[in-house]
Amino acid sequence: MRASGKLAAPPPTLLACRDGVSSGSGLGVIDSALLGLPEFEPGSVWLVGAGPGDPGLLSALALHALARADVVAYDALVDARILRLAKPSATLDYAGKRGGRPSPSQPDISARLIRLAQAGNRVLRLKGGDPCVFGRGGEEALALAGAGIPFRIVPGITAGIGGPAYAGIPVTHRDTNSAVTFLTGHDSNGDVPGGLDWDAIARGAPVLVLYMASRHLMKITKRLLDAGRQSDEPMAIISKATTPAQSVLVSTLGEIARASVEIQVPAIVVIGRVVSLRAALDWVGAPERQALGKSS
Ligand code: SAH
Repeated sequence: MRASGKLAAPPPTLLACRDGVSSGSGLGVIDSALLGLPEFEPGSVWLVGAGPGDPGLLSALALHALARADVVAYDALVDARILRLAKPSATLDYAGKRGGRPSPSQPDISARLIRLAQAGNRVLRLKGGDPCVFGRGGEEALALAGAGIPFRIVPGITAGIGGPAYAGIPVTHRDTNSAVTFLTGHDSNGDVPGGLDWDAIARGAPVLVLYMASRHLMKITKRLLDAGRQSDEPMAIISKATTPAQSVLVSTLGEIARASVEIQVPAIVVIGRVVSLRAALDWVGAPERQALGKSS
């Protein structure tokens, strides 16, 4: 079966796709020796970013780790097709948060990673996007370091860069901005982050990329307008980015501050003039080109 959501472009030459992929084993997907990839030692933990959704955005190190891990402890945002690349004997261990259901606490997850590694497993901690961008990768790495467990951090493509790219929005553009600011739209209590200096952000951040902003979007846009941002400044809300269900809403700060919009989650919000580039750069939606969800 072909994975839906793959772009039509030919696979990168490093990925020699073999039958092993569709049968659920990642072994042999890449030539790890040719690439000089490190051994995944028993008793170690790799904290790996799985990217924002499209399995084509996995790194060679992530594929290498999936093919070798004894345990894959994965988060809610990891695409099911990616988990199929684990070796058949691997234990898939859900360690994420799911609305309404009891979810493991962060200390529980860290303790479990430590126990699994101490038992001699190759433990792959697989997280959506990049493990260290609003992903608690740092907390888990600190726990592993404290317990003396060898670990490696494998960066992934974060939703705040991959999502805009799939919406035809470069997060920096020479004519527009020489800085980009990544923010979370809520703090650990679920409130608008109180520790942020919104006036300074409004003044100094030409492009804002907001994670987890759906709940407080009206409040945040009002806050930015109060601090002097223009109401006609463009913004985009990119939902389910890089997946076949991706949708993009383009609006303005003023409109979003007035209207309460229904937002499909997960969503990334981009505020700034770079959003206007989408009109010319929407390569996914361009009718004459291949859309997400179709294979060549
Ligand atoms: N570590 C992740 C972020 C985890 S926080 C990363 O680097 O991407 C979770 C937030 O990420 C979501 O609330 C949403 O804002 C964003 N996100 C993750 N995947 C996304 C996707 N496919 N489309 C849009 N937003 C996404």
